[in-house]
Amino acid sequence: MKPVIALVGRPNVGKSTLFNRLTKSRDAIVADYAGLTRDRHYGQGKQGKHEYIVIDTGGFEPDATSGIFKEMAKQTQQAVAEADVVVFVVDARAGVSAQDHDISRYLRRLGKPCLLVANKAEGMKEGAQLTEFYELGLGEVLAVSAAHGQGVRDLVELALAPLHLPEPEEEINDGELGPIKLAVAGRPNAGKSTLINTWLGEERLVAFDMPGTTRDAISVPFERNGQKFELIDTAGLRRKGKVFEAIEKFSVVKTLQAIESANVVLLLIDATQGVTEQDSHIAGFILESGRAVVLAVNKWDAVDEYQRELLQRSIESRLSFLKFASMHFISARKRQGLGPVWTSIVQAHKAATCKMSTPVLTRLLLEAVQFQAPKRGGMFRPKLRYAHQGGMNPPVIVIHGNSLEHVTDTYKRFLEGRFRKEFNLVGTPLRIEMKTST
Ligand code: GDP
Ligand code: GDP
Repeated sequence: MKPVIALVGRPNVGKSTLFNRLTKSRDAIVADYAGLTRDRHYGQGKQGKHEYIVIDTGGFEPDATSGIFKEMAKQTQQAVAEADVVVFVVDARAGVSAQDHDISRYLRRLGKPCLLVANKAEGMKEGAQLTEFYELGLGEVLAVSAAHGQGVRDLVELALAPLHLPEPEEEINDGELGPIKLAVAGRPNAGKSTLINTWLGEERLVAFDMPGTTRDAISVPFERNGQKFELIDTAGLRRKGKVFEAIEKFSVVKTLQAIESANVVLLLIDATQGVTEQDSHIAGFILESGRAVVLAVNKWDAVDEYQRELLQRSIESRLSFLKFASMHFISARKRQGLGPVWTSIVQAHKAATCKMSTPVLTRLLLEAVQFQAPKRGGMFRPKLRYAHQGGMNPPVIVIHGNSLEHVTDTYKRFLEGRFRKEFNLVGTPLRIEMKTST
């Protein structure tokens, strides 16, 4: 599980600026996808080998008692409770405020690893003016400048240090040997528990014992038509005896962690609600994590012909960045349309772990170029020479050549289409990287 870092602090100290810095490494990967809306409060980042999840808690009012502030405080407290480490951001220029004292009191009670960070410290003399922050009783204060990217690497290192994270192993589980790890994601009430319990109640599903799984393990192993699966407890779902039950709170952190641990994510959309912002955010996380995905629009029984048409259109426009995924219209309650979902899950997994040989990739690349050559960029015409597979889960295709920085996005999409078709890559993101040799 990736560690979770929560940013807290009063408004205007620079939390969102810092959040953007901390999640930037991932930004580059998803930048290509049009229509992807990111969640402003939850993101993922990577430094060195370590990946992490960051939560920006917005304005922090630990003792708010009414209205929207109370709701915000509740959400913030949930986020802080779910975090492994809290980064408390203060304003180096403004000095200590009464609100800072309130927050630090709250954090000290919490007893979690906590890192005190004084932002906006660019151009300030080493140590000057920062001594007053020691009165917050949280120990050392780290001077950073989120706007200028100063001290941010140290911040991540210091924040993760108390967690004693093991060196991440190279992911060798491509799912070929083990079971397909499946996460069912979706908003509260989308029908996740109904679907899972319908499935687990089916006779064709055989629960089996896996070595090392205990009774309160967070995953359920089962087998269907000879294929082994492992169902991962998802956000808002917990196993209670033999059935899954929705728990009261929806947790974005748990959703993210389930998506990260899965090989394939089944994203359930509630047909009676349409595609909401929360759906797009979850879809964005799936894409960002590079997971294989299958879309299922649930409660299809509860909508009429007109609504169905509207819904199909809104999915096409709002989730256009997932158009590589197969889509099903199902009713978990009436057990309609469920068979093909399995087929797509297996297919998506196969696509995500597909092996593509260098000769075949290169032949496809050269054929594509012959069919339609890339446009000139100024004086240069990109020269695409050969391609090889740079990774799996999701598949990465690395193209080598010269002047590749002039290859347009349109042309990349054209190539992507050719590769997808040839290798039948349905249900998995595909990344294309360009390596120009000098
Ligand atoms: P938040 O309310 O805590 O999320 O704060 P924001 O990230 O929105 O930043 C508030 C203001 O502080 C903005 O005007 C930022 O441009 C500015 N700011 C953020 N980081 C820095 C910094 O490192 N140095 C300076 N001088 N200003 C910063
Ligand atoms: P979860 O929060 O995603 O686990 O959602 P639940 O499985 O608890 O379902 C929420 C509500 O939607 C319950 O009242 C279910 O009976 C209902 N529901 C689930 N699937 C369907 C369906 O296919 N059709 C209809 N009409 N209702 C459904």
